[in-house]
Amino acid sequence: MASSSYSPHFLSLGIFFLLITTTSSEEESATIISRFQQYLQIDTAHPNPNYSLSTTFILSLAESIGLQYETLEFAKGKPVVILKWPGEKTQLSSILLNSHTDVVPSENHKWVHPPLSAHIDFNGDIYARGSQDMKCVGLQYLEAIKRLKRNGFKPVRTVYLSFVPDEEIGGVDGAGALANSKNFEKMNVAVVLDEGLASPNENYRVFYGERSPWWLVIKAVGSPAHGSKLYENSAMENLQKSLESVWRFRASQFDLLKSGLKEEGEVISVNPVFLKAGIPSPTVQMILFSFYLSLCPSTTYPSFCYQWN
Ligand SMILES: [Zn+2]
Repeated sequence: MASSSYSPHFLSLGIFFLLITTTSSEEESATIISRFQQYLQIDTAHPNPNYSLSTTFILSLAESIGLQYETLEFAKGKPVVILKWPGEKTQLSSILLNSHTDVVPSENHKWVHPPLSAHIDFNGDIYARGSQDMKCVGLQYLEAIKRLKRNGFKPVRTVYLSFVPDEEIGGVDGAGALANSKNFEKMNVAVVLDEGLASPNENYRVFYGERSPWWLVIKAVGSPAHGSKLYENSAMENLQKSLESVWRFRASQFDLLKSGLKEEGEVISVNPVFLKAGIPSPTVQMILFSFYLSLCPSTTYPSFCYQWN
């Protein structure tokens, strides 16, 4: 999820509400699963997600549950759906349950069942793009609220649900725009539950941090000289020095991980991903090199490109 300059704590959590609700009848489970399949069958894959259909689907569910709703459009054709379950003490800060409606594209021929079929096999496994990331979470929020309401539960704080577009391509026009809007300010959000990892059993992992990516481009330049001579300060030599310091830092982080002193999420991972060597001439040299630097958790959400010449 992409966003900036706002302070509520984001927690990543998979399926949590079902743990506090009552068990449903078999018939009800079948209806819930078929609703989930309908959501999965809506093609919200990039590069042409059908947000209009997903919005209609979510709004009709919200209406049937009795939730207030509005659709915000910070960028044309990219709806942010906000649902509201008013709390008993409206002066208190609220809880926001976020999920994104878009999914990554799929290569159909590599799938056992078509990615938009939401096919259920004999084990009860559902095959669909977005089943884990993260349409399951959005629907579970709604199904859980439905049951809680039916059981007469009234939240003390207002609960909001946001269904945001474009998370898979950076979220600038979705969660990012929402987070910077007056609408978000008015929501007075204290805590946000967001995406986590799917769980194959009854245990759910809660994440309290977020890794922030940094794309760093190193552009190495050097003195031009003729290839028949030995000369100092070549672009390649300068690049080599930068790389050596990057690798030293990477090794120090890796050592912490291997020795067990730090967990996976507590170290900074540095991974070179792209190298572009410039002009194949002994007289003019320029080398470009970029690597991906993702920072440790506990940072907020800055996502930017830093260029070092
Ligand atoms: Zn996701």
